Amino acid sequence: LHERKLIIQIIPFENRRQILVTHDVTESERIDMMRRDFVANASHELRTPLTVINGFLEIALAQPNLEEGTRMAHLKLMTEQGQRMQNLIDDMLTLTRLESIDYPLRTEVLRVRPLLERIAEEGRALSAGKHEIVLTIDGPDLKGNAEELRSAFTNLVTNAVRYTPEGGRISLRWQSDEQGAHFAVQDTGIGISPEHISRLTERFYRVDKSRSRETQGTGLGLAIVRHVLLRHHATLEIASVPDHGSTFTVHFPSTQTIQDYAQTP
Ligand code: ADP
Repeated sequence: LHERKLIIQIIPFENRRQILVTHDVTESERIDMMRRDFVANASHELRTPLTVINGFLEIALAQPNLEEGTRMAHLKLMTEQGQRMQNLIDDMLTLTRLESIDYPLRTEVLRVRPLLERIAEEGRALSAGKHEIVLTIDGPDLKGNAEELRSAFTNLVTNAVRYTPEGGRISLRWQSDEQGAHFAVQDTGIGISPEHISRLTERFYRVDKSRSRETQGTGLGLAIVRHVLLRHHATLEIASVPDHGSTFTVHFPSTQTIQDYAQTP
């Protein structure tokens, strides 16, 4: 797979001339492999919750007079698995849309303060008092797509909550810098070993599969973040120390920021 194979095709053109088409098989094989991997992963991820749901349905059919408490517990587990499938399908659709080259980016002027205040509030709701979540804002407004950026920022905050044990601190900072501005999500969580960091934004890549599933993670969050940022000319920087915590920083170039918009009422 590492060697480059080139196919040269000669196609008749207007009966006289010929054009030469070179085709990089290695690249198309790679894309094909990625597609197969994606289908295999997605099928596997969907099959697991479906197996659980089917199992409980079989029990319900075989034992119609189950005790009320048990029946409710089974229904709750089925609902959770159904939600997991829903999250997966939603994330897969989002990713597919973001990856399609002809999906236009609808840009608008974004007020950063209300956007981040809402995201911090949602983070606090998810944390349910288990973490201290602090937001500081000292930066410009942004040009971009509100829905996409909200989903990218929310993913980072949700991960910080998921991968930080109870009692931890999560700080969200929006700040101007020489390049433009950045949004940093810093947690005091479980951290990530260096060998995993470069692969985190791959689809379905997780450091610890069971932990990610426990917390309703789909393994697609950071892949979505990467695509949204690419579309906004922004970059993601990940710094982490195992057992101490991680910082995910989104850097926006000055072409995406609006310096004086924040001053206007
Ligand atoms: P998931 O839905 O599994 O959270 P993501 O794509 O959002 O998927 O993240 C991929 C993996 O990166 C996670 O499974 C987890 O192992 C790791 N990760 C992401 N954010 C953090 C964080 N703040 N602290 C520790 N690990 C993280």
